[in-house]
Amino acid sequence: MKDYLAKLPLDEWRQATKELLKGSFLEEAWIDESMQVLGGQFSGASEVEVVLQLRSSDYRFSCDSCMGRFCPHVSALVEFYLEDPDSFMPIECSNRLINSLVKKSWGKYELKTRKRNLRSLKRKLEMMQDGLSLAEELYEQLFRLLPKVNSQEELFSLREQVERLGEYHLSGLVGEFKKVISSNKYSMLRLLVRLREDIAAIKKNLVSQLNSESLDYLDSESYALMGHIWKVDELAELHPPESGSFLQLAFRCEENNYLERLEDRAVWLNLKNGELCHSVNLRPYKSLRHLKAEDSSDMVLECHEYFRYPGKNNYRVRWQSAFARKEGVEDYRSVINYSREDWDVVIKEAKKHLQSPIKGSAILFLLKFERFELLNNEIFLRDQYEGALKLINGDSGELVSILRTLPKDVLRDGACLIEAIREENGAAIIFKALGLVSSTHKIRLTL
Ligand SMILES: [Zn+2]
Repeated sequence: MKDYLAKLPLDEWRQATKELLKGSFLEEAWIDESMQVLGGQFSGASEVEVVLQLRSSDYRFSCDSCMGRFCPHVSALVEFYLEDPDSFMPIECSNRLINSLVKKSWGKYELKTRKRNLRSLKRKLEMMQDGLSLAEELYEQLFRLLPKVNSQEELFSLREQVERLGEYHLSGLVGEFKKVISSNKYSMLRLLVRLREDIAAIKKNLVSQLNSESLDYLDSESYALMGHIWKVDELAELHPPESGSFLQLAFRCEENNYLERLEDRAVWLNLKNGELCHSVNLRPYKSLRHLKAEDSSDMVLECHEYFRYPGKNNYRVRWQSAFARKEGVEDYRSVINYSREDWDVVIKEAKKHLQSPIKGSAILFLLKFERFELLNNEIFLRDQYEGALKLINGDSGELVSILRTLPKDVLRDGACLIEAIREENGAAIIFKALGLVSSTHKIRLTL
């Protein structure tokens, strides 16, 4: 057993384990030599029960508070065993007992570093380029048809052609085209012009990547529009993985009828650097029965390593494992400290972002506020100077109702997560409050 345990990447785990298990101690530990099982109970900062089973080709574990590949409790349990095996109480387990204890599986820890196959990557990029030419044709076709269209039905034959973009690894554009085709006559032209700008930007990005000898991925949002599905090692190529602590500020589940899937989106603040980012969990309609929704969370996720997607603002993140701990007032204080007071600059940045192609139609920021003000059912967020930002009242007037039920002190001197969105007609920008953090509470402002 000792030999097997020594094969685990303990050196790699040690630092993260130390940080994450501050204030916890191993209260009880047990072992079943013949079944190759270790178990233990941690107390202190959190009460956690953990079981680890070693098998010939892999190992699996179950932990009350961790998910994914890395669990500091398992790491600590193994260290304790290697140091002092006699302190583990010998017990006899049955297969059934172990199976009831071990609910999650855990594969090998090491990231497999895949050799890049440049030839096949080049083929794929060239194919996408062909796909973009098709997209341009479709765009021209739509543009010519548009003034003559009287009903949605007349555009339905175009749908089939649009689907073909999926064969060129451009499934994201399939969704964008469908959005244009399904919209009403008035927003159609605006969406179409926007799509043309997007396609031009994607093309430029693709050409630059093809021109670099090693076909390096670029730090560009255009991959999201193409519908590129990133592999972990591709992301790691772009930005080496880092460690982070993520506090969730907002969560919502959206239906994407164009791509036939549900999209769980969460907004996070990385407490280590104050950056806002988001995570997306995609659930295709077809496999809905097997896939569970990711819940909204009131826990801070400590990630030993996370990967970031390309993009500058509110970039997307992903992690393969995380350790969850309860959030506390100290975390709320850091959120407020990270929130921005330079409202003028923030709003300028938002406008610029919303004007440029491929960046999407919304942007998030965290503002430090002094109070909320209700004036004849209009809502303003105010800073301690003269600043005032008009907020929309939600789709069904929910913001006013939510604000009215909250204690006064929660609505003072905190940080507010704001989403800036371009209005349907394209000109104006509207601001929506998604959540707030006061020195004592975290509150979601959307239903
Ligand atoms: Zn754990």
